[in-house]
Amino acid sequence: MYIVQIASECAPVIKAGGLGDVVYGLSNELSSQGHCVELILPKYDCMRYDHVWGMHDAYKDLWVPWNGGSIHCSVYCGWVHGQLCFFIEPHSSHRYFDRGCYYGEFDDAMRFAFFSKAALEFLLQSNKRPDILHCHDWQTGLIPVMLYEMYKYYGLDHQRVCYTIHNFKHQGLAQLDVLQATGLNRPEYYYQFERLRDNSGSSINLMKGGIVYANHVNTVSPHHAWEARFSEIGCGLQGALEYHQAKFGGILNGLSYKFWDPEKDELIPHHYSKSDIAGKEENKKVLRERLMLRQVDKPLVCFIGRLDQQKGVHLVHHALYYALNQRAQFVMLGSATEQSINDQFWREKLHLNDNPDAHLEIGYNEELAHLIYAAADMIVVPSNYEPCGLTQVISMKYGTVPIVRGVGGLLNTVFDWDYEETKPKEERNGFVFYQQDFTALESAMSRAIGLWYGDNEKFQQIQEQGMESDYSWTKPAEQYVGVYEHIRAK
Ligand code: ADP
Repeated sequence: MYIVQIASECAPVIKAGGLGDVVYGLSNELSSQGHCVELILPKYDCMRYDHVWGMHDAYKDLWVPWNGGSIHCSVYCGWVHGQLCFFIEPHSSHRYFDRGCYYGEFDDAMRFAFFSKAALEFLLQSNKRPDILHCHDWQTGLIPVMLYEMYKYYGLDHQRVCYTIHNFKHQGLAQLDVLQATGLNRPEYYYQFERLRDNSGSSINLMKGGIVYANHVNTVSPHHAWEARFSEIGCGLQGALEYHQAKFGGILNGLSYKFWDPEKDELIPHHYSKSDIAGKEENKKVLRERLMLRQVDKPLVCFIGRLDQQKGVHLVHHALYYALNQRAQFVMLGSATEQSINDQFWREKLHLNDNPDAHLEIGYNEELAHLIYAAADMIVVPSNYEPCGLTQVISMKYGTVPIVRGVGGLLNTVFDWDYEETKPKEERNGFVFYQQDFTALESAMSRAIGLWYGDNEKFQQIQEQGMESDYSWTKPAEQYVGVYEHIRAK
């Protein structure tokens, strides 16, 4: 099958979070299963050009109709770790992708509406006719809308869309000028609740457009699909999901073991495997040295992730002090976009500056993340909600035992050592708590830390069982192929 992935991220060249990992990992697996896969991405000024091989002009004169005129674009092509990617660069005074950041600009809706339009124009003008367009998150929500309402009449009439939602919180709210800029010119038609009108009643919702118009919609774990449809976790889109339930489901994300494997990870100093885990201890020594923590016989608990309400920041903060109280060390790596959260963790960092058992690293650091996964004994993931979550899955591959809140994809991947009765003991791989309070978190952390001190053999068994679990892309990619087969034009 010929599949084109259209997204705002693709790791490691453009990565702000899990979306980038998923877009690359899925594409790579689909290619190895024999499909023809191409990616269309924005050409940001700040992307990691060192991860693109053989970048060259692929299409020089792409004119994209926009706002009654048109914008001249160049399309570049290059390989990102074996995956063929096309990067769209608009030449206009808007400088849509020359902002030194991926997201967070005042005109994000306009920027990504333009990208969506340019991606369709590129397919049309370069005569590419894939079977499937796989679009991701609100940034590409307008693609199925424009495909159905405009481009099928221009010649893209056999393409079908799979639309994957990675985070319901960010839906791409916009005003009608965004639609008009794309050429979707009948505001009264699109501005209806059964199409793009947001629940708030005063905006259009690009993610809702994706849900209404795509041929198949999914989120990134079965449990989150349920939560989104039946609880406030759907962030106002429950009604649309309910209405379109026949084409909505959940497919668990995989993990790209090409980048995340302690046996061959180039970013860690000591490799190790399930049968010879000694290298993990060596990595722990390296990490402690690097972060100026003392070398003691204590477990190392970590947190890696965005410092955002979604990730349960108040519980992360509590986990830090609880770990120290329980004779453990704590390392945190996180970045915050919200100023107050950033300030709070900077204060905490300064407060703990001389503590030999704690280190807070504020910022984004891919290399340090790999070393922490490889060095830590446990990771806490106390999320408020979690569509799938990758940090717990990466941790398991690195023998780092997850302590997670039982929500979303965390529930589909982590099975409590003591209490998960639906799984035999040899398939249990972590610790789970449910309530969003300190007591619940403490009880799970104390069970994990208690086991580390009290019965190291059993603790190692959990580590090994986590390392054994298969969260590769093989099965999820097969499930996506099943979806593609189902929706492709016959
Ligand atoms: P989300 O997509 O909601 O941010 P996920 O758990 O799905 O969360 O994916 C997070 C990804 O981003 C993981 O690969 C994780 O290692 C990485 N990551 C998150 N924060 C940082 C950071 N501060 N530095 C390095 N990597 C990070």
